[in-house]
Amino acid sequence: MPELPEVESLAEFLREHAVGRAIAGVDVVAFQALKTVDPPVTALGGLIVTGAGRYGKFLDLDCDGLHLIFHLARAGWLRWRDDLTGARPVRPGKGPLAVRVRLTPDDDGRAPGFELTEAGTQKRLAVYVTEDPASVPGVAALGPDPLSPSFTADTLKGIVGGSRMQIKGLLRDQKVIAGIGNAYSDEVLHVARMSPFKIASSLTDAQVADLYEAIITTLRDAVARSRGLAAKDLKTEKKSGLRVHGRTGQKCEVCGDTVREVSFADSSLQYCPTCQTGGKPLADRRLSRLLK
Ligand SMILES: [Zn+2]
Repeated sequence: MPELPEVESLAEFLREHAVGRAIAGVDVVAFQALKTVDPPVTALGGLIVTGAGRYGKFLDLDCDGLHLIFHLARAGWLRWRDDLTGARPVRPGKGPLAVRVRLTPDDDGRAPGFELTEAGTQKRLAVYVTEDPASVPGVAALGPDPLSPSFTADTLKGIVGGSRMQIKGLLRDQKVIAGIGNAYSDEVLHVARMSPFKIASSLTDAQVADLYEAIITTLRDAVARSRGLAAKDLKTEKKSGLRVHGRTGQKCEVCGDTVREVSFADSSLQYCPTCQTGGKPLADRRLSRLLK
């Protein structure tokens, strides 16, 4: 799933490539993805793209005051197309294509645009057309953005202080902090040398300071690495930059221990025992059940 750094890069990519062009049309293929009815998507036709930004993991294409907002969910992605003039008309049904946004042609006749795709059977990609981004429930509910200048160590202290949540779950909760998901919460906790199961309110002031540093450096580094990359190269870059997430069984680059995993019903987390849990593997309920 694209998280804050990837969504930030996609927004930057759209600022470079889409801003200043007019929308020729928006074709919705996966009808269930469109969460708003008024204004209709056809209202975007002819409007100039004036900006592209991000709220947490939501992307916002500002079309002269009318916003096309989308959330790529777990298996969604944005695919930039240099020229859509020869593209086949979109038909609802099979395939990953959910939405196609066509921009007006260049002088050379090429009509660029982008497509939102979603792999898999669980369709969670969500698209909104609205005059007010805050009218999107997921946007309105977002916690503070960790890359905003107003997100300080004190902000984080206030957040963890009153919470009985495990720190991994807290970092992923969009209502608490916006933009961090399963991958970057694993990364942040590895940098902070902290167990994912630690209870938030049990953190000492020094640990909160470490966690704050870990959040900021991890996200900033990831944003810097993906800057300037084409949308299609972001996934590979994300994977290659990760220290523990998705690296079960591989060596921890910091200490040489083996990266381990804890599995849940529909996700898993990765961590390094030596770096994060005093060398002790965390209980993996699925695994221990299998071993009985
Ligand atoms: Zn390690």
